[in-house]
Amino acid sequence: RIPLSQQALAARGAPYLDELNAAQREAVEALDGPVLMLAGAGTGKTKALTTRIAHLLSTGRARPNEILSVTFTNKAAREMKNRVGRLLGQAVEGVPWLGTFHAICVKLLRRHAELVGLKTNFTILDTDDQVRLLKQLVVAAGIDEKRWPARQLAHVIDGWKNRAWTPDKVPAGEAGAFNHQGIEIYEQYQERLKTLNAVDFGDLLLHVVWIFQNHEDVLAQYQRWFKYILVDEYQDTNVAQYLWLRLLAQGHKNICCVGDDDQSIYGWRGAEVGNILRFEKDFPGAKVVRLEQNYRSTPHILAAASGVISANEGRLGKTLFTDLDEGEKVRLIGHWDGDEEARWIGEEIESMQRGTRGLEPFSLDTMAILVRASHQMRAFEDRFLTIGLPYRVIGGPRFYERMEIRDAMAYFRLAVSPENDLAFERIVNTPKRGLGDKAQQKIQMEARSNGVSLVEGAKILLATKGLTGKGAIELGKLVLGIERWHGLVQAGVSHIEIAEQALDESGYTEHWQNDKTPEAPGRLENLKELVKALESFENLQGFLEHVSLIMDNESDEGEEKVSIMTLHAAKGLEFPVVFLPGWEDGLFPSQRSMDESGLKGLEEERRLAYVGITRAEEVATISFAGNRMVYGQWQSQMPSRFIDELPADHVEVLTPPGLYGGGFGAASGGMTGGIQSTIHQKAAEADGYNSPGWKRLQSRSQKRGMSQPSEARNMVIDMSAISAFTVGERVFHQKFGYGAVTAIEGDKLDIAFDKAGDKKVVAKFITAAAS
Ligand code: ATP
Ligand code: MG
Repeated sequence: RIPLSQQALAARGAPYLDELNAAQREAVEALDGPVLMLAGAGTGKTKALTTRIAHLLSTGRARPNEILSVTFTNKAAREMKNRVGRLLGQAVEGVPWLGTFHAICVKLLRRHAELVGLKTNFTILDTDDQVRLLKQLVVAAGIDEKRWPARQLAHVIDGWKNRAWTPDKVPAGEAGAFNHQGIEIYEQYQERLKTLNAVDFGDLLLHVVWIFQNHEDVLAQYQRWFKYILVDEYQDTNVAQYLWLRLLAQGHKNICCVGDDDQSIYGWRGAEVGNILRFEKDFPGAKVVRLEQNYRSTPHILAAASGVISANEGRLGKTLFTDLDEGEKVRLIGHWDGDEEARWIGEEIESMQRGTRGLEPFSLDTMAILVRASHQMRAFEDRFLTIGLPYRVIGGPRFYERMEIRDAMAYFRLAVSPENDLAFERIVNTPKRGLGDKAQQKIQMEARSNGVSLVEGAKILLATKGLTGKGAIELGKLVLGIERWHGLVQAGVSHIEIAEQALDESGYTEHWQNDKTPEAPGRLENLKELVKALESFENLQGFLEHVSLIMDNESDEGEEKVSIMTLHAAKGLEFPVVFLPGWEDGLFPSQRSMDESGLKGLEEERRLAYVGITRAEEVATISFAGNRMVYGQWQSQMPSRFIDELPADHVEVLTPPGLYGGGFGAASGGMTGGIQSTIHQKAAEADGYNSPGWKRLQSRSQKRGMSQPSEARNMVIDMSAISAFTVGERVFHQKFGYGAVTAIEGDKLDIAFDKAGDKKVVAKFITAAAS
């Protein structure tokens, strides 16, 4: 139990304080009053923050539930909990109010739901549901949904919610939004959510801030309750979060915020870096602590990151130094296209796992791929599935966004609350029950005219024989099923059992068993995965909440895996080995930031680059491709302008692997200056660049303006593949995997594949495997 008794503390001292430098210690020991730690990446801000929690607990200053500690990602929250436990040398039973803004607000809102007209079992809509609902309202308002997509309105409304504007508070200046009907539909949307007993993500904060502003007694209760408030990544708070914190902190004023203005990367979602710069005004007399020693990254990595961020104009500027050994330079490599990039990184990961270049072997857990845009993940996922490299996607809704998972979840949602109309709409005819649009309209009408949920409406419809035939029988079964599952939930039956029964009795599992499409087996696997995922939760509601908050899609237990995530999700994390693919203008920095007038967007992208590089402890590899498929179209890419900003002394440009490297040269023909000309030269050195096939490709692609790189690449491989292989060489085949060449006969190779056995294949389908 925590807090430790005073005796135990006296006997043990506070050994965790010895792990800190003087500045960190100062910040940890200044327990009362406002404290701000403003410092660069890897300087131990989060470490100081977690130590502060440990110190509060072990000195008996606060009980676990009197500490409010917010951070930005679920992974970061979990990490902090672990760290506190470790520091205190015992399992922490829980610092219950340590979590993301959203997770904490869900808890608060469940306690006070009635104050905003909700029931405690309200559901949290995900983006898809949110958009679907908005679409209905947009259409009902007679707006052309094609010209004014609901998704756009969702974005506008999110922006308003991030500023803590309820419909009546949206300023007149916004009246033109969404065809002049934005505010009106926002109001209807909020009403609709209320009737559905649902909230969207933005509401979690909006409602709680509103409650605090309108119910002094509630606010006062929490001001007394939370004796100490701690905030990580303060530079990324938006207005609503800022108001929320300021309201709560006005009691004891024991608030400690840490952050780094150079890592402010959520401006696009309404974050205000000004919040951190204003801290001393908001909390007069605040103690401000600066940290300058970086404990995370080697000097080369740190210098590369500092070089990039120094190109930003609006920054406070900081000194950073490190005592660590020099290590390897940041590595930079160009590829033909995104698939080759994924292939190379996959092979690189495997060789680092074995130990390469005199480095110790790295486990998969220590390696991460950080992408700018989540669509980049697909190439890696596909590649890693092909070569059997275990990976996890962090912070993404990927798994839970799959159709079958969302369907299954709708069944679970109905079991928890049968009045969840959105869930009912989703599955009423999935699997097919002969309940087409007409039947569904009848249910809707019955529900609306009686002012009841769709399930209730369906019951009335059946009782009044408003529906007959097969549809009626099936609907009857469904309604009975939902009521039965709900009964099981209320009776406290194991949620895993309920989940399995719901999927079986509804015919949903069977539907995929009978499905003959190639995806069906995978979908059944996913459903099994889903039921497995339930095991770590106490009940369905807890699980559904977890999913709504988009936690990591896989448990951290078991097998070692490479992590794939977006740069945004990587904030605050660290990995010995980091890959940073896709450094190309238009992808990173994003096209939008480049098109914008002014530097705001571009500077935010640059901060993102800084965040990316500073995640790496020992080895950082930046890469880019000459060609990329974007929205189904091949495009020639130019290396990112941020590559030019890397200080050349701290970067090693790698020679692109064989045939692929050549292709890059063509796409980047006009490069000049420092690193870029080195890249060009390295590309020229690559085998493929001098091969006859490459020369043909070059002239042909010039004529075509590089519109067909994949075809052109096949030509290169055609021309050089035959002579390129030798007996005994390790090779790779897309379908059969790795193997060794045993004989060569014209353009046909005999290959002993590791897994698929002996096969004869055409040389053009084979590529050399890096050894
Ligand atoms: P970011 O800005 O990226 O969130 P941060 O400032 O929060 O970084 P931490 O994650 O707290 O930095 O610390 C970076 C690394 O340095 C961690 O591995 C941490 O354990 C280590 N570290 C922090 N302070 C010290 C210290 N005084 N002595 C040794 N190692 C430390
Ligand atoms: Mg941190």
